[in-house]
Amino acid sequence: MADFHTLLEGYHRFRESGWSAQRERWSRLAEGQSPKVMIIACSDSRVDPTQIFDANPGEMFVVRNVANLVPPYEPDRAYHGVSAALEFAVTQLLVEEIIVMGHGFCGGCAAALTGQFAGTAPGEGGSSPAGSTCWEKPGNEFGPSIRSWTAPPFAQWSSKACGSASPI
Ligand SMILES: [Zn+2]
Repeated sequence: MADFHTLLEGYHRFRESGWSAQRERWSRLAEGQSPKVMIIACSDSRVDPTQIFDANPGEMFVVRNVANLVPPYEPDRAYHGVSAALEFAVTQLLVEEIIVMGHGFCGGCAAALTGQFAGTAPGEGGSSPAGSTCWEKPGNEFGPSIRSWTAPPFAQWSSKACGSASPI
């Protein structure tokens, strides 16, 4: 597992080899980005979209959160990171495709579907997407439809929908 020291070592390796090998690309990217694809993915450490799709820097605009959620658009001037990223990607970057990338063995989805954090206080899981705030919000039909679709225990859903021994 990486600790801060190994992350610094990785950074230095990157600067010495990976960065210099693509120096022209980095110089071009310093002038701006124009990715064609936006990916909304889970924060899970096992499923890095750029690694999975073998993408280069500048090729994908990525937003990650627990359980790759896309909350409803709420123009209330609050701090909605996913909405802001979507708006930027569509109106400024002019991305051509938006992909929501789920994955197997997602702890966020498992917690949401089993109600693991339902009713818990913020700071104890209740403010996470897997808590009740997002999935069970009144008027949000996403949560109930998922729940009715996943009527069997989560383990059965997981094996049917994701069905592998890999989180990818
Ligand atoms: Zn996940």
